[in-house]
Amino acid sequence: MKTALYPGTFDPVHNGHIDIARRSADIFDRVIVAIYDLPQKNLLFSTAERAVMLKAVLADVPNIEVAHYGGLTVDFCRERGASTIVRGLRVISDFEREYQMALTTRELAPELDMVCLMTSLQYAFLSSTIVKEIAYAGGSVSQFVPALVAEALRAKIGSRKE
Ligand code: ADP
Repeated sequence: MKTALYPGTFDPVHNGHIDIARRSADIFDRVIVAIYDLPQKNLLFSTAERAVMLKAVLADVPNIEVAHYGGLTVDFCRERGASTIVRGLRVISDFEREYQMALTTRELAPELDMVCLMTSLQYAFLSSTIVKEIAYAGGSVSQFVPALVAEALRAKIGSRKE
């Protein structure tokens, strides 16, 4: 059985992430969508909140699991029996970062490989940062995220502004 790990911050999950997760599930027997517990970023949502949203929006895909981890991605792959790391590519700058990560991963764990899936054209501009910026500015994000994520953004950002 081929297991892939799709790691990320997912703060929050958006349609570009969902597209990569679903396409990965068509390629691999089992896909673990893995949320970083401790990223070097300012997060809007807690790990538990991010996990609830991911589980809900991917609940219909039987070979996708949602998990979270701290520490090294390669260690979590070994712990969960994943032999491949999946990442999504939007722009050349993503490629440069992923290329460096792939080579580093190979140094740390030669048994792991990395697969990068090209974004679908309609999501090429989409990032969690953009989604949050639109939400903070009071705009609608309904075409970028599932309804439950849009609702969670409204609740979270509304309560922060109060
Ligand atoms: P990071 O891991 O850099 O914090 P994210 O959590 O936002 O980034 O994204 C997790 C993974 O999903 C990364 O591989 C990222 O390149 C990919 N990704 C994010 N947005 C898109 C998109 N619109 N299309 C394809 N892949 C994406």
